[in-house]
Amino acid sequence: MGLNEQDISILGGGIAGLAVATALAGRGAQVTVLEQADAITEVGAGLQIGPNGFAVMRALGAGEALADCSVRAQGVCLLDGSSGKPVFGLDFQRFAAGQEYYFVHRADLVDVLADAARGAGVDIRLSQQVTDVVLDGPAAQVQMASGEVLTPDVLIGADGLHSKVRVALNGQREPFFTGQVAWRTIVPAIGNEPAVAKVYMGAGRHLVVYPLRGGEMLNIVAVQERDEWAEEGWNFQDDPANLQAVFADFGAEVQALLARVDKVYLWGLFRHPVATKWHQGRVAILGDAAHPTLPFMAQGAVMALEDAWVLADALDKADSVEAGLAAYQARRHERASKVIEAASKNARNYHLPAGPMRFAAHTALRLGSRFAPSLAMKKFDWVYKHDVTKT
Ligand code: FAD
Repeated sequence: MGLNEQDISILGGGIAGLAVATALAGRGAQVTVLEQADAITEVGAGLQIGPNGFAVMRALGAGEALADCSVRAQGVCLLDGSSGKPVFGLDFQRFAAGQEYYFVHRADLVDVLADAARGAGVDIRLSQQVTDVVLDGPAAQVQMASGEVLTPDVLIGADGLHSKVRVALNGQREPFFTGQVAWRTIVPAIGNEPAVAKVYMGAGRHLVVYPLRGGEMLNIVAVQERDEWAEEGWNFQDDPANLQAVFADFGAEVQALLARVDKVYLWGLFRHPVATKWHQGRVAILGDAAHPTLPFMAQGAVMALEDAWVLADALDKADSVEAGLAAYQARRHERASKVIEAASKNARNYHLPAGPMRFAAHTALRLGSRFAPSLAMKKFDWVYKHDVTKT
């Protein structure tokens, strides 16, 4: 079919929306992005972009810009939270040579994608809040907060966790609270930080730290299993004292980090079912709108990038929009579901209570890290070596 002059509206100017807009415009489509925020800004938080996400950034022509504002990761190190002793380490330079893994500030990733989208001719419209989406045969009616009703030829929902397009396609399905919360914060770095993601593990808790922006700052994500419910979203602040209290028995390095926290966001971790229907007629969803994930594989934004590439490619190759969107779901559903399942299982691995199970697991990890690090890395090849731009 080709996408020349095809009119496409995208709801949401986050990672999925800007990436798919760039990929579609690069193939000749006339793309408009509707974003509710009045500026393309993002809350302060870091993201890890693995090689499978970087492959998409490169194919979008934004690889160099991303690399310039990120820290290239050199490895990952799991540590015992209370003693601070390493349990497992992987050196990417030795065991994942050539794979590009980055730590990036969310705001920088969104800026890079917005520049790429504008460069490809995308019309990004800010302050455009959508209040409702109603399917109308193969198309959709989009109700704007201004009172206007839009009837785009093709509508792509990249409207995140609380997606209105997902609800229009699938009805409302309530997520369930996993009994885990995540604090997210950024603190200034003190010294020369290694470009390594450190994961401090304890019973029912773990804390991930990695450098951002040339090592000037450190991103912290701290997870706790608990019954007390918390909201799901980017903008719920908490008292730093609560975070400090939960990790009070962790070692000196963690205490020094947490002493520097003056503002922290708390995020309730919910499990959402992967949407059954990602498309109908000329309407589709991608990214968190289709399949929100727990953060334990650091693959949510990366899956959004993979979706974006495949959606544009499938539309470009199909005979009709309807067939293209069906091919997109067929190519993505199984992979996204598998990554999300792996993320859900991962939390348990970090949170073992002290005792024989933790001893056995940590011993196995220590031995693995000494004698078979390349095997440990291979376990994740199916995630990181997958390159959607080459299929
Ligand atoms: P969003 O980024 O949420 O974008 C949706 C956009 O749509 C927003 O701009 C919003 O304003 C707009 N919008 C929504 N509704 C409307 C409306 N009604 N009208 C107009 N506009 C609207 N992923 C990784 O890959 N690596 C990581 O290291 C990582 N760490 C994480 C850590 C934590 C604690 C959490 C919670 C998540 C993490 N993620 C990570 C996941 C990642 O942040 C998400 O998967 C990603 O942001 C999804 O992108 P998206 O574009 O689909 O949604």
